[in-house]
Amino acid sequence: MAEVTAPDRSVGLHPAAQRRSAIVFGGGLAGIAASARLAEAGWDVTLLEARSALGGRVFSFPEPRSGRILDNGQHIIVGACTNLIAFLEEIEARHLWYLQPKLDVAVYDRRQRLGRLYGISAPNPIHLLPAFLSYSHLGWLDKAKVARAIISMMRVNRQDPELENMTFYDWLKSRGQPDRIVSNLWNVLIEGTLNDNIREVSASMGLMIIQDGLLAGQRTINVGYPTAPLNDALARPAQTYLEKLGAKVITGSSVRCVNTDSNCRVQNITLGDGSNLHADVYVSAVPFWTLPRLFSGPMAETATVRRLSNLETSPIVNAYLLYDRPVMAGDFCYVLDSPLQWVFNSTLIYGDEIQGNQQALSVSVSAAWEYIDIERPRFADTIANEMLEAFPKARDATLLDAVVVKQRNATFRCVPGANRFRPGPRTESPNLFLAGEWTNTGWPSTMESAVISGYNAAEAVMSSEQSRSKSENQGAGSMV
Ligand SMILES: Cc1cc2nc3c(=O)[nH]c(=O)nc-3n(C[C@H](O)[C@H](O)[C@H](O)COP(=O)(O)OP(=O)(O)OC[C@H]3O[C@@H](n4cnc5c(N)ncnc54)[C@H](O)[C@@H]3O)c2cc1C
Repeated sequence: MAEVTAPDRSVGLHPAAQRRSAIVFGGGLAGIAASARLAEAGWDVTLLEARSALGGRVFSFPEPRSGRILDNGQHIIVGACTNLIAFLEEIEARHLWYLQPKLDVAVYDRRQRLGRLYGISAPNPIHLLPAFLSYSHLGWLDKAKVARAIISMMRVNRQDPELENMTFYDWLKSRGQPDRIVSNLWNVLIEGTLNDNIREVSASMGLMIIQDGLLAGQRTINVGYPTAPLNDALARPAQTYLEKLGAKVITGSSVRCVNTDSNCRVQNITLGDGSNLHADVYVSAVPFWTLPRLFSGPMAETATVRRLSNLETSPIVNAYLLYDRPVMAGDFCYVLDSPLQWVFNSTLIYGDEIQGNQQALSVSVSAAWEYIDIERPRFADTIANEMLEAFPKARDATLLDAVVVKQRNATFRCVPGANRFRPGPRTESPNLFLAGEWTNTGWPSTMESAVISGYNAAEAVMSSEQSRSKSENQGAGSMV
């Protein structure tokens, strides 16, 4: 157990109202969502975040050289992110996120041939039929093969344990999908959403994207994005909302140690400044690679904590390019067989006050193993050269600025077997609960998963609280 270096400060126990108190540590979306649910239910909530602002892996920052406000990476949503979208409504930030009324994704090959994945107003899955028939990156024979695979996808039970053990690539191969179809269609849908190559992800998670995204309804696959820098589109409205609910938000305050007794009950937590905080319950919403470091003693040896060492992360690298003139049309597109992957037109998306005719683009490279360790200028050169190939207008333009943002631990990996190591919100400790997009939400590493995990943790807190007060009441009754 950590040495107690200062007297305990009790977090907001409110004797008059008998409110129960909760400390949530980790101020990403998971911690924000857990805090919101608990505060809405009348809990006395303190949210502790190590960094100077809320948002976690969803943040923006002023780039020191140019002063431009950049995101840590392009974030997109899809219509299936129903919890996130409802949460954005709650915090009055929904208007800062665009969502397509119908799916429309431009997919180019390196010869600038366009194929469009789009939806029309028709029942599901007919709404995708015209796009499928006209998609120029697949031949007719390929399309017949895809149709057969889609029928299998609609029928297969992705909870089958076998599907957690194999890759989606192998599953697609077993359904007669040649590499051309895999790279020209399936990987377009998978690489960005799971932040890994389709050859690496489990069949169960690959099928989740197709079943709950592509095939679940008319709107589930519609793509959206923030129309303001991420701090404005999420962190600030979230903090305002929490404070309105009466939650105490403390930023710049890192939890150094979670102090437990021999039964794993949390006694208090020690902060970076050496002081201790106490509450009735604790919700951890820190990343899975941070959590084990916060424990010593029996909690560190629990199955929940030990299994976390089996989870892995995958990197994303973004290049923010500024051209002296427009080089792309439309708001975003995917480029096949290219290091570019997804290219977003920031000038159009943000309605930027960019000078004159300039155009700002954000190039988002998922599963960026090849680039995460190379020097930023080298990556910027690779991307700028590739832009010349894929976007002919870039050949006449001058690249005014290129900023590279690397996020090594961007998302957890949905490799085969990973789902088995994702814990639920309850732990071996009676008063410690877990949130985080990496917990067992059924979703990959996304903002939607983070929100669901926060709600799951808050529900677990409240239901264990109900059981506690019920057994206390029964105990009191039997003494009469
Ligand atoms: C570049 C990039 C692009 C992405 N693109 C998308 C996308 O397009 N769509 C999508 O849905 N998702 C995307 N994601 C993933 C998404 O951002 C994450 O899944 C989600 O934000 C995770 O939220 P979280 O609250 O679970 O964890 P985090 O956001 O990591 O929050 C954990 C918080 O805990 C804090 N913390 C850590 N240690 C301590 C401590 N000791 N004490 C107190 N606080 C602590 C951290 O500072 C952090 O704020 C992307 C991620 C990155 C990095």
